[in-house]
Amino acid sequence: PEKVSIKELAEKMKMQPSVIIKKLFMAGQVSTVNTELTYEEAENIAIDYDIICEKEIPVDVIEELLKEDEDAPETLKKRPPVVCVMGHVDHGKTSLLDAIRKTSVTDREAGGITQRIGAYMVSVNDQKITFLDTPGHEAFTAMRMRGANSTDIAVLVVAADDGVMPQTIEAINHAKAAEVEIIVAVNKIDKPNANIDRVKQEMTEYGLISTDWGGTTEFVPVSAKSGEGIEDLLETIILTADILELKANPDREARGLVLEARLDKGRGPVANVLVQKGTLHVGDFISAGASSGKVRAMVDDKGNKLKEARPSQPVEILGLSDVPNAGEVFLGHETDKQAKQYANTYLQQHKKDLIEETKAKMSLDDLYSK
Ligand code: GDP
Ligand code: MG
Repeated sequence: PEKVSIKELAEKMKMQPSVIIKKLFMAGQVSTVNTELTYEEAENIAIDYDIICEKEIPVDVIEELLKEDEDAPETLKKRPPVVCVMGHVDHGKTSLLDAIRKTSVTDREAGGITQRIGAYMVSVNDQKITFLDTPGHEAFTAMRMRGANSTDIAVLVVAADDGVMPQTIEAINHAKAAEVEIIVAVNKIDKPNANIDRVKQEMTEYGLISTDWGGTTEFVPVSAKSGEGIEDLLETIILTADILELKANPDREARGLVLEARLDKGRGPVANVLVQKGTLHVGDFISAGASSGKVRAMVDDKGNKLKEARPSQPVEILGLSDVPNAGEVFLGHETDKQAKQYANTYLQQHKKDLIEETKAKMSLDDLYSK
């Protein structure tokens, strides 16, 4: 993997290399400006940035964002689970996401446009599930840097004819580090050489023991090709979500994540966001990283215009001043002034550059659904 020298890192963080060297020294590591750091180490330093720069930066927006604004228990209501699909390359992540989307498309929608907005919602027996299909895993990585989670449940795809592979193990480690519940989808069971028991056997090594073997991990045999087992998988997700008792307060200012964003020639900055708390309305003032604005319009993954979006709902929004980075937190604000203030402070802190750089260099893309 790529490395970065302390000198380069300091430049990106707009700070003196000596500050980093001192910090490492305090942690028992002797270094010079030319010492090379892995991106993991650089990331840790970036996360500690607030502490190091205490004197230079009076207010830290990121720190503010990290403060989990706890909602009172009585305000919390049930919300749908947010699910990501992970696994080794070619084990069928994209195919599985496609198969799930197909099962959920009603006759009315079948002829209509379903658009890609970085995530989609499906309904199973009147209950909803949100699937992230963000290209790469940008949201996931950036959020990890902030210690927050975008996902409740990870569906780990393992091909039944191939078994556990290096990226399967990486995915397990990521999901565990993020404390995300894992459901194993044993895919390609239509293949003649599929061996479900072998997958179960191999997974025991990583502490994932199937419920029918006395463990606590759900293994669902599926075929993204034939559609077999997809309903079972969706039901397993719903059951798992029920156990997790996922809740959020819908009656407050919205807060969530930018999944993807782009500049549209006619419409200006377009951001696909996931609402995590509160309710986002057309007309709300928001900020996302260095951009701010007023929500002009909202569209869901089926192309429906919305007036409001509640927790776990992915929507496309118009009205931001700039294109925010994927993985950025967005926040609802009471006034336009407040939204602008947040965006400006964020900009001043130059954190954006560093996060972008780190993100670009991380080569985890194949791990996540694309
Ligand atoms: P990804 O890299 O994990 O996103 O994998 P893809 O979804 O691109 O699938 C890789 C290959 O496996 C493609 O050729 C798919 O058609 C094939 N594939 C995916 N799921 C199944 C399945 O359930 N059965 C069979 N036979 N092939 C599958
Ligand atoms: Mg893929």
